[in-house]
Amino acid sequence: MPEELGYSQQYYTRRSAHLVCVETDEGVTGWGECFGPGNVAIANKAIVEQVIRPMVLGMDPLDRDVIWHKVYNLLRDHGQKGMPLQALSGVDIALWDIAGKVAGLPLCQLIGGKFRQDVACYGYGMMLRREHVTELAARFSDEAAAIRDAGFGATKMKVGLGPKEDVVLAQAVRDGAGDDFVFMVDANHAYTTSDAFYVGRALEELDAYWFEEPIAPEDLDGYAELRAGLSVNIAGGEAEFSRWGWRKLLESRGLDIAQPEVCALGGVSEYLRVLALCHAHFTPVINHVWGSAIAVSTNLQLLAAMPPLPGGLHPWEPMLEFDTTENRFRDDLLENPLNIQDQVKSNGGRVAIPEGAGIGVTPNMDFIKHYQVA
Ligand code: CA
Repeated sequence: MPEELGYSQQYYTRRSAHLVCVETDEGVTGWGECFGPGNVAIANKAIVEQVIRPMVLGMDPLDRDVIWHKVYNLLRDHGQKGMPLQALSGVDIALWDIAGKVAGLPLCQLIGGKFRQDVACYGYGMMLRREHVTELAARFSDEAAAIRDAGFGATKMKVGLGPKEDVVLAQAVRDGAGDDFVFMVDANHAYTTSDAFYVGRALEELDAYWFEEPIAPEDLDGYAELRAGLSVNIAGGEAEFSRWGWRKLLESRGLDIAQPEVCALGGVSEYLRVLALCHAHFTPVINHVWGSAIAVSTNLQLLAAMPPLPGGLHPWEPMLEFDTTENRFRDDLLENPLNIQDQVKSNGGRVAIPEGAGIGVTPNMDFIKHYQVA
């Protein structure tokens, strides 16, 4: 990466992406992606290749739900959450890509249809740097204004220096973005519940739209207390897996906005079940999006096919999450790049849904070979 960036858990200087390619004997190739950076991706690659591949080789790739349940059931004793599900996610997404290519349909139409031709996009940035809070606040203020000027309809900042410092940073973002601009705050589960209340009350004053992962994802009671006690929307769920994990999370009533991660929770097959669960609880969904152009395209398809909740003339609408920091695995991976920044600038902050079959995009193999590390 051109510079070191951080969030509440760590600083990082390298970016990675874990792509999964499934080939069929009829020559159809599907692409998927597993959530997880660096050494996690290396370990997930071993799970994909050494654990899942022998289980599914020779099966019909169109039997994606049969494959999903075979893998999940065989791995249940070894990981109902975490890396085994991340690994399965990439395989499942690739199988959906194959199914779309065989049917000649984009994923969004395979799973129910296009509710929207394009989707609003929020640009996140304001990553942590090793700077004094005063310096960082000035930087955040400028960056928020730049993201607004780039055409994004909303923005999201990181926090994680500590509750008092984080309120200073949030104030700087509000100042830089202006009074009317929608902004969100992502704590990456850095706070205790009491610290989250302290920051959350400040975010209410600043009219932040949502407060993301304020506390540890395991603390379902804490989420419910925050949601009951704060008026700012509580968002989360990127670290939850499968219908069974999401069932508990939704039943605990701690989320105003659910953020399922398709590349982690179990792929498209499981995402659709989790989406149904979210809607059964009348919890709006804004997908968590991280990673390469494969993950972004998959999410664009899913966002196109997301029913409005609860519906109406001016329904609540989802947004595409977009990282505004440099990411060549997203911007330069494809034969035909998504050019999201250009679309946002010229299309009122909105991004079109890729129209090809499956997830609708083709990676450039020379690019992959150049950056391949394992
Ligand atoms: Ca997040």
